[in-house]
Formats: sequence, C-alpha cells, structure tokens
Amino acid sequence: MRDPVYYSGSAKFFDTHAHIYDRKFDANNVTTEDILQRCRASGVTSVLIPADSEETSRIAVDMANKYDGFSEVTLYASVGVHPHEAKTYTKDTEEYLRSALETRRTQKIMALGEIGLDYYYDLSERSVQRDVFEKQLALAYEYDIPIILHEREATGDCLDILRRFYKEGRLRSLPGVCHCCSCSLEASQELVKMGFYIGFDGPVTFKNNKKTPEVALNTPWDRIVIETDSPYLTPEPNRGLINEPCHVAFVCARIAEIKGVTIDEAAQITYDNGKKLYGVE
Ligand SMILES: [Zn+2]
Repeated sequence: MRDPVYYSGSAKFFDTHAHIYDRKFDANNVTTEDILQRCRASGVTSVLIPADSEETSRIAVDMANKYDGFSEVTLYASVGVHPHEAKTYTKDTEEYLRSALETRRTQKIMALGEIGLDYYYDLSERSVQRDVFEKQLALAYEYDIPIILHEREATGDCLDILRRFYKEGRLRSLPGVCHCCSCSLEASQELVKMGFYIGFDGPVTFKNNKKTPEVALNTPWDRIVIETDSPYLTPEPNRGLINEPCHVAFVCARIAEIKGVTIDEAAQITYDNGKKLYGVE
C-alpha cells in the first residue's frame, strides 16, 4: 500500500469530527498515540471525538479525558445515538445521556451527537429514527448543548423536524453542525438560516463531487467547519488509505481553494468557528 502524504506547513487545525476509537485503527495497527503524534506533526491541535451509540459515547468520553493534552492535542467528546443505532435507544439510554450531560462541563462533553436520520442505509426503522432524533433534539435544548447532525437521503423529514423545533423555540440560537454535509445547496442554506454550522470533509476533495464544493462556495465563512470523519472518507490525495485527523489539512486546503484564500487563512477561520460551535476556549 502506498504511503500517505502529510501536511507540513505551519497552520493550526481543528478536526471537529473524528472517530479515533474506531476498530479499524486497531485492525490497521494504528494506536491512539500514533494518531495524536501525527496530529501534532500536521498542525492539528484540537479534535472532537463524536459518538454514535451509548457504548461509543462512553468510549469517546473516556478517551477525551484520558488522552487530552497527549502530544499537545486538545480533545473533546460528544455523546449521542446515531440513526443507525436508533433501534437500541431505550429509557436506560436516555438515563445514561442525561447523567453524562449533567457532568458535561467536567467531562469535556461539548455536543450531543451524532443524531439525525439516515434513509440511505435504513439500519433502524424510519419511524424509530424520527422518534429518537426528536427525543435527543429535546434533550439538547434542555441541556443547552449543540447537536452533531447526521443526515443522509433524509433531507425532507430532517428539515421538517428541525423547522418544527425552530418554530416552537426549541432549537438553540446556535443549534449545532450539519456534519459531513451531503444535502442540496438549498437545504444547506436553510440550515445556515436556522443557525447551523456546515461540516466539510473528504468528499469536498473528491474529483467527481460537484455538489459539495458548490455548497462550500455558498456557505458563509463564519459557518464553515472542517472535519475528517476518521477513519472513513479520506480526503485526496490520500483517498483509499485509512483516514486520520492529520489529514484534515487537505480538507482545509480544498476549502481555501474554493473560497480563493490561503490555507493559513482558511485554517484560522475554521479553527475559530470550531471553537464557537462547541463553545470551547
Ligand atoms: Zn461520524
């Protein structure tokens, strides 16, 4: 297998979405220490570790606390149940989420997610996905915490639910981030109007992808964050290799190219946006 290309400039990056606990890393003999050392070497100084189930919520929180500061990388976590896992959501899950959210300030829990709808894989029944999404949206409002939205092939229903919460005043003024945005330009603009950030990752670098660069071009600068969704969706020029937060620089470079600014400028803006999104210093 070919060697990955690494960024070697002086910009600093915030990877706002990386599942660094994923089993794929273990299977590839990549340790957490390796990941964090490569972060430092590539200018990635902050990483948020998102969850997709109760199990990975616990793992993300443990990891963010255990490894925070290792190799001078600041780590944060989220807790939440992904639409794929909606069928596992019980009263006990909700109790766990509540207990985690109670302690969020000392436990580095900065968001509730990934939550949302995924009609592409349909791994949970759609009505169950909607119900679990709404339950967690209500929790996010109650605990005043941003959400990490996962939406795939479900834009209509997703926007209907968000619009209803928005009209009822049950969305924060800064509701969260539409992670790995794959929706239309029109839908992304409605999300921005509701206050959402838009998260870009590997797909914006893919040569056959015309839609996502168009969304990036039309998303206001103060709403753009960058992410890797590691270990998947590896950006060019490393597409096909395992993804790590250190590759977020290539997402940033592509955004910079689309917007016509330098990578340093794009890195600074998206870093500040990441901090505002998750409410961190
Ligand atoms: Zn993810």
